[in-house]
This record gives sequence, C-alpha cells and structure tokens, in this order.
Amino acid sequence: MSPFFTKNEVKIRLNKSKNKSIGLVPTMGSLHEGHLSLIKTATKENDLVWVSIFLNPTQFDKKNDLINYPKNLNKDIKLIKSISNNINIFSPSEFEMYGDKIISKVYNFKKLDSVLEGKHRKNHFNGVATIVSKLLHLFKPKNVYFGEKDYQQVLIIKDLINIEKIKVKLILCPTVREKNGLALSSRNKLLSSNQRNSSSIIYNSLKYVAENLYKSDFKSIKKNLINKIEKINSFKVEYLEIADANTLEICDKINPKKTYRAFICVSINKVRLIDNILLN
Ligand code: AMP
Repeated sequence: MSPFFTKNEVKIRLNKSKNKSIGLVPTMGSLHEGHLSLIKTATKENDLVWVSIFLNPTQFDKKNDLINYPKNLNKDIKLIKSISNNINIFSPSEFEMYGDKIISKVYNFKKLDSVLEGKHRKNHFNGVATIVSKLLHLFKPKNVYFGEKDYQQVLIIKDLINIEKIKVKLILCPTVREKNGLALSSRNKLLSSNQRNSSSIIYNSLKYVAENLYKSDFKSIKKNLINKIEKINSFKVEYLEIADANTLEICDKINPKKTYRAFICVSINKVRLIDNILLN
C-alpha cells in the first residue's frame, strides 16, 4: 500500500473503481487514534476509503507553526495499514496541490470565520476551505469525514459545500480523548509529559462550564477558569467562549430553545490546543 503522490495517479485509480462509493478522510498527517476513528468509521460506511495526508501551508498563519508541525509519513502508513490494506493514501506535494502559487481562495463565510479560531488565525479557514474544496473536487466522495474537535471547521466545510454546491455528505465523528480528557491532537506530541498531564484542565474546564452554566453566570465562571488555567506555568487562554452551535454567535447567556457549545483555546509555549463541548 504505497501512497499516491499525484492527482493523475488518483484519477487513474478512481477510474478503476467507478461504481464504488468513496469515503474521504482529509488529514494533515502525524496520525493518532482520533484520525484512526474517522478512518475506521469510513471503512464501515463506504466501498473504498481514501485518506489524504497533506500538511496544508495556506491554513498556517505562522511559519514556525508549520515548520514545527509533527510529520511522519512512514508511521502514518503503518497505522492506516493496521486498520486495512485496502485503504488508499494520497500524499501530494505542495506543488501538486497549488502549483507555484501557494495561496488560498478568499471565501465569504460571514460570521463563521470572524470568531474563535477565525479571529485568532488570520486566513486560516480560507486555507482550510481551499484545500478541502480541491480534495472534494478531485475525489467526488459520497461521504467526507471530519472530527467534532474542530467544530468550527465543520461549520465552515458545511458552508463551503453549500457555496460550491458540492454533492457530498459530511459525517461528524466524536472527539477521541486521552484518559485524562485531553483531546487527541497531533500537536500534543510537542508537549512535555508534565504539560500533557496538566492539559487535562482544558476539557475539565469545558465540563465545568457545561455543569455550572445553569447555576452561575458565564462571565464569572470564565474569569475563575481563566485564572485557574493561567496559574499553570506557560498556559495562556486565547479564548473561552460560549457560542450558538449553528451560527457561532458569541453570547454570555443561553436560550434553552437553542443549542450552544463552549469553545476553548489554550496555548502552551506557542502550542495551541483547542477543544469544545456541547452545552445543552
Ligand atoms: P488534522 O490532521 O488535525 O487536520 O485532522 C484531520 C481530521 O481529524 C479533522 O477532521 C479533525 O477534526 C479530526 N480529528 C483530529 N483530532 C481528533 C480527535 N481527537 N478526535 C476525533 N477527530 C479528530
């Protein structure tokens, strides 16, 4: 199972499996059990599964973040093989996906990308949408798989699918966590074991919001939680917000008739960890 490196190779392979349903799992590599859960779900729901492994430069606003992002294609291949030998891997070069102009398309996601990650990482979601659009047009999958951990990304991709009228079903997969609650992320590899242990406070804070929002007001909960998190050496809260789960409108109070999520981003020596939780 060696990876396909070019779009042409992919097209030839796709031509050979014309009547088969395709499930696509887009990733940036350095795979962990979170990615593998998406791939496993995809293998159950499609005739053929493609995993793309591409560290997409246009979604990184900081050069060092891209440079330091963990990479290990050989290990990724082994992990995918451990699920099945019939999974196809597409691991293109930057040139293959972008030619010599590594730039993103500019979309209008309205409010969806003006808050949370969109506010803190300029042009991030234009980069995400650009690469996902390229992949969806190449593979034309029946289903595409995304993780709930990157919930804002999921809303953006749903919007992209609408904007570009792409025929595909987006399947949302639950967040896989370490025993201590920390959401699995390729970036966790950049933490020391102490930092990784202390990072359990991220999900615990979200759970605290979910359990206490009805008893106390969010502003004071938020202040206390940020204080607690930032007492840990090098932990910095970039945001802790509640937002409407469909529009991402930020709010302090929730209306029982609507659905909300709490979102958090903590950076630990420039390693950004994000997570979110359903509130009602
Ligand atoms: P990435 O390689 O970080 O771009 O992630 C590829 C896909 O895996 C995205 O749809 C992510 O939301 C998803 N993903 C990443 N971490 C997890 C996790 N801990 N649990 C479930 N899905 C995840």
